[in-house]
Amino acid sequence: MLIITGVSVLISMAIAAVVGSLLPTFSMKPSLLTSAIIPLVIAPLVSLPFVKMLFQLNFLEMEMRELATYDALTKLLNRRAFLERAEFAYNVAKREKQNFCILAVDLDLFKLVNDQYGHATGDEVLALFGQITKQISRESDIFGRVGGEEFSFFLPNTTIDEAENFANRLHTAIRQASVNYKGMPIHFTVSIGLAAFTGMNISKFDSLLQFADAALYEAKKQGRNRTVKAIGL
Ligand code: GH3
Ligand code: MG
Ligand code: MG
Repeated sequence: MLIITGVSVLISMAIAAVVGSLLPTFSMKPSLLTSAIIPLVIAPLVSLPFVKMLFQLNFLEMEMRELATYDALTKLLNRRAFLERAEFAYNVAKREKQNFCILAVDLDLFKLVNDQYGHATGDEVLALFGQITKQISRESDIFGRVGGEEFSFFLPNTTIDEAENFANRLHTAIRQASVNYKGMPIHFTVSIGLAAFTGMNISKFDSLLQFADAALYEAKKQGRNRTVKAIGL
């Protein structure tokens, strides 16, 4: 706004000077002082709404980017953002031949939670899960909500033992957590499929997720509330 006002004042004074030099009599010449004061008053008034609009646009753009990246309920990355970031990290790991792990996590019998305690309680459980994962994960971990009650983790620079440790910490943290339903604590569990990669034995990004999904399916089959490692890795 200061710049707009300054430029307006300068332009106004320049016009006054040019017009003044062209006019024959002194009385007809516009005063330089007047030509400076008028835009000094008018320019801020005129530019203020535009400046406000620019701030609003900036704010809206940030909000839109946030909505396009994060899931509103769990505050975790949404599916698209997770896949984008995980694939980027995967390409880095492949180039650097680094270990990394992928975890597919699914809340157990979540339909029952909704049926017994209502959808709002189910939502609270999902939000709580989001908080827990943020607390126990590292800054470099990439994770997001990839489906209704399904989550994926990409742990860069992580061995299978470290990932198993992470999965155990997740189970423990979840065991200790609960949401309140009519004064009663509601607990939940998750099943985890863990796939580990050495940076050498990997193919396409999509097939890595399928490894973790297959292990998750096995965890469900074995009775839920457990971690199963991907077979053959
Ligand atoms: P499993 O242990 O085999 O995974 O059983 P499940 O009941 O968790 O699996 P199922 O796929 O049968 O049900 C998933 C449920 O998750 C059904 C759906 O209504 C619920 N769900 C998905 N998204 C949301 C959500 O945003 N909020 C709530 N409250 N429920 C959700
Ligand atoms: Mg489920
Ligand atoms: Mg599911």
